[in-house]
Amino acid sequence: MTVEKHHFSEISQKDQQYVWHPYSSLTNPIPAYEVISAKGVHLKLADGSELIDGMSSWWCAIHGYNHPALNAAAKNQIDRMSHVMFGGITHSPAVTLCQKLVEITPEGLDKVFLSDSGSVSVEVAIKMAFQYWISQGHSNKNKLLSLKGGYHGDTFAAMSVCDPTNGMHHIFDQVLPQHHFAPKPQVGFAVEWNNSDITEFTAILETHHKNIAAVILEPIVQGAGGMNFYHPDYLKQVRQLCDQHNVLLIADEIATGFGRTGKLFACEWAQISPDIMCLGKSLTGGYMTLAATVCTEKVSDGICHGEAGCFMHGPTFMGNPLACAVANASIEQLLSDDWQANIERIAAVLNQQIEPFKKLDTVADTRVLGAIGVIEMKHPVNLAQIQRQFVSQGIWVRPFGKLVYVMPPYIIEDSELEALMRGIYKVLSA
Ligand code: PMP
Repeated sequence: MTVEKHHFSEISQKDQQYVWHPYSSLTNPIPAYEVISAKGVHLKLADGSELIDGMSSWWCAIHGYNHPALNAAAKNQIDRMSHVMFGGITHSPAVTLCQKLVEITPEGLDKVFLSDSGSVSVEVAIKMAFQYWISQGHSNKNKLLSLKGGYHGDTFAAMSVCDPTNGMHHIFDQVLPQHHFAPKPQVGFAVEWNNSDITEFTAILETHHKNIAAVILEPIVQGAGGMNFYHPDYLKQVRQLCDQHNVLLIADEIATGFGRTGKLFACEWAQISPDIMCLGKSLTGGYMTLAATVCTEKVSDGICHGEAGCFMHGPTFMGNPLACAVANASIEQLLSDDWQANIERIAAVLNQQIEPFKKLDTVADTRVLGAIGVIEMKHPVNLAQIQRQFVSQGIWVRPFGKLVYVMPPYIIEDSELEALMRGIYKVLSA
């Protein structure tokens, strides 16, 4: 298809001179589009055009952009205080949020550590697991067991448990701690369970449990490592095996949390509670960066009865009141909407709209779970080229590798979602 020439704004041009973007080259930059405002499911570009957002700014903007209730919460809080240190000081936005998170997360998760971003909450979870075992006199439990195909963030401990092949291990091999990896779960979400899927995981745990502090995984949906939807029985068995072998379970719900998969938290598909859960992304409805690591009292007690007498972590911006106030408004908004019906509605439209893609020769697989739709191509897409094509269709979709996927704001209307999927189809079928 012909690609319309987009006129990049002055800001976009300056951007290439000064600014790093996620996973970007500064010597061979792909121009970035200047967004001047956003409202509902639309991003407005500097040239006045509007794009339907299929990404929720990477799983975050679940209520869409410029939401009146979230705006009001931010404005109200900023006039009281934007930030105050969290050492020795507390405030209502943080306490309200932590209580709420305890109430809505799976049973047994009773204590909350707030931090700045998803990757940091994973660092915190891993540190909790290690400090827990050190406090019990088991400092030999210094390894983690993760899954191939997983993604947990870009900081060092998080990187060390990302997929060892498509993650960054091959570049940072010499500086990353070495952990155990079980094969990527193969049995899909909605197909018949086959016990052989967990055989190797079981074998690794049986052999190495004395040295393993925790299993870390993304429940049900492996996101940035490949958009893999796996079977709830896998997760159920992981929980049982962790209990059996005295290993903690860390569930990274940074992408899946707050309804995206059709349950408030993806662990609910397997009716399990982890020992530690990481939350981020849509925690503030995508307004600002905030994350939480929620753990059981067993973990917090274990840590605090140890030699240190406290958990050894405390970021400067911990419990930022502005972020907490917006998170409270976001959770309130989510729970006051009929979010589950909304996710089911989106899933139904996605299932219908994804049908025609199955007939394209270039498509290897399609899958839908909750408000996530994935079109897996046979070959990696040319990002620079396809990005321009999507923009010329009036949609914002950002594929990676072979994966073209959408995870729209929950407020997207059927007609907007249909337009989004039609735009993708036009580009992929050309
Ligand atoms: N874990 C998962 C499952 C994620 O999807 C991400 C972000 N894509 C992270 C951790 C890292 O979060 P952040 O980018 O906020 O550091």
